[in-house]
Amino acid sequence: MTTATTESASVTRPASEQPMVRADQVRKSFGRLEVLKGVDLTIARGEVVCMVGPSGSGKSTFLRCINHLERVDSGRLWVDGKVVGYEQRGNKLHELGDKEICRRRTQIGMVFQHFNLFPHMTVIENLIEAPRLALKQSKAEATERALGLLDQVGLRDKSHAYPRHLSGGQQQRVAIARALCMQPKLMLFDEPTSALDPELVGDVLAVMRDLASSGMTMAVVTHEMGFARDVADRVVFFDAGQVVEEGPAEQVINNPRHERTQAFLRAVR
Ligand code: ADP
Ligand code: MG
Repeated sequence: MTTATTESASVTRPASEQPMVRADQVRKSFGRLEVLKGVDLTIARGEVVCMVGPSGSGKSTFLRCINHLERVDSGRLWVDGKVVGYEQRGNKLHELGDKEICRRRTQIGMVFQHFNLFPHMTVIENLIEAPRLALKQSKAEATERALGLLDQVGLRDKSHAYPRHLSGGQQQRVAIARALCMQPKLMLFDEPTSALDPELVGDVLAVMRDLASSGMTMAVVTHEMGFARDVADRVVFFDAGQVVEEGPAEQVINNPRHERTQAFLRAVR
């Protein structure tokens, strides 16, 4: 189905210079509730952006739009230079079929508050499932890569454990390793430490910190201001479906300009 022309989508710069994510006036409603009211945001390649803001401000919905779990109503969203959900042919945009949507989604890793591991599979089975099915990797190849990633998150010795025998923090580190097995070009984190006991948060943040320093492009919704200050290149403050303020982490956290940002930061500190 042809749905749009591409005046604003013209792609003239080489892919390597395009941002990893670009949102231009993205809007999304659920029924009569407008949740995203024109979000503008850019995430450069290799950049770590922390998204903060009150509950209900649309942060999760925005992440879900990036990997096309939600469809935007208007405005436009690009990932890696391609309009999310569409393919450009000539100067027209054509809506993607399910197969291509799934293929593109495999290039974006997503880690949620609740780990969503398959409970009936061991850690290693959780990790090799998607690479085998979606990337057609052999069992040996997928296993080798998975063990390397378990090393990276400090859980190689748990490869044959079932998720229920792991702590929440360990499960979340497995979930991160599982996302990385797909060799994503972008990682989305939606409050990855919010469900954890406080003493387990540090190990998960340490894994995310390593990932950030390896050059991964990351969008992280979090209330962990210490992490945001240390690791994020930029902090974006969401309120009521819009980006109210953004800038270098240090500036937005220590010296917020907007009154709503100031009030929010006072409350989470
Ligand atoms: P945040 O992550 O910032 O807390 P969300 O994006 O989860 O915010 O939600 C923003 C608003 O959208 C909330 O009012 C929420 O109830 C509503 N919402 C989110 N997803 C849906 C949905 N699938 N159907 C209806 N309302 C939704
Ligand atoms: Mg949320």
